[in-house]
Amino acid sequence: MSAAAGQAGSGSSGRIVVVGSLNADLTIYCDRLPQPGETVHGNGFAVNPGGKSANQAVAAARLGGHVSLVGAVGEDPNGAMLEASVAGAGVDVSHVRTSSEPTGVAVIAVDARGENNIIISAGANGTLSPADVAGAADVLDGAAVVSLCLEVSTETVLAAAQAGHDAGATVLLNLSPYAEIPAALAGLADVLLVNAHEAAQFLGTPVPGANASVADWDGVRDQFARHGIQQVLMTLGSEGSVVLDSLAPAASRVTLVQATAVAAVDTTGAGDAFTGAVAVRLAAGDALADAAAFASVAAALATTRKGTQAAYPVAADVERRLR
Ligand code: ADP
Repeated sequence: MSAAAGQAGSGSSGRIVVVGSLNADLTIYCDRLPQPGETVHGNGFAVNPGGKSANQAVAAARLGGHVSLVGAVGEDPNGAMLEASVAGAGVDVSHVRTSSEPTGVAVIAVDARGENNIIISAGANGTLSPADVAGAADVLDGAAVVSLCLEVSTETVLAAAQAGHDAGATVLLNLSPYAEIPAALAGLADVLLVNAHEAAQFLGTPVPGANASVADWDGVRDQFARHGIQQVLMTLGSEGSVVLDSLAPAASRVTLVQATAVAAVDTTGAGDAFTGAVAVRLAAGDALADAAAFASVAAALATTRKGTQAAYPVAADVERRLR
């Protein structure tokens, strides 16, 4: 039986298993993004560890979570760099295997206003399969939280969601990058994590902004419930997030979480920091709204430094800010 968030356990922190992607982020900074057929000069280049799942695993581990990552990298320098970054944060990488495909890459162009274009080549991530999920039974069986995104194949995500569900874990599904999902996968997700764009795509209708009334949000909660999704965390960028919880008593089914005021310098990977932080707090037994409040601080702090994994806060940073 699947544990609903908020009923996760005794307060001692359970294992978090993240199944998914590792990418090398190859970023070129330029004044403006090229039009189709055009070449522009860049003014800086960086290679950083990334991939939504690797980012989430690192975010959770830096915040004190016991984290295992299930993924695949190529036998190339990018793969070694990614594995070192994740392992260096304290993540168990015994289920990150090598593949004959090259390590996944995200080719990113960022202009002077911070706008970006991103192309992802899945590479080794595309080889992650239900067999890898079966091979990670030793960690999945005892998991408190299983965290998933859509940068690996749907059949792999579905197998991992099923394994998490069967183990009684809380299954977090980050609907990113957006893709339509089978009803069976929606049914296995205990908590859906989406930004406003992904929510609108999933529901097929725009969602209100952060200033919307509780009644408006309650309508959105109801729409998700009709899709079989009982608990939703929707991030709203610098405007914070909203918790839509159809399992809570009627008076507390909508919780608006303010963004934490910071001087943001780089919001890349803020959503992954948010997800990793939610996983940590749910694994420790927090209710969903409490996990979101903690994650709001962690994600905000992540925006105050450049980069993704290296910018993620440790638990003491978040606790200092919460005091
Ligand atoms: P994604 O990157 O997945 O689109 P968001 O941009 O919605 O995710 O950001 C995720 C979370 O990070 C937000 O809900 C918020 O808590 C935090 N966050 C993002 N940008 C800022 C910011 N400028 N200031 C404070 N917090 C932020």
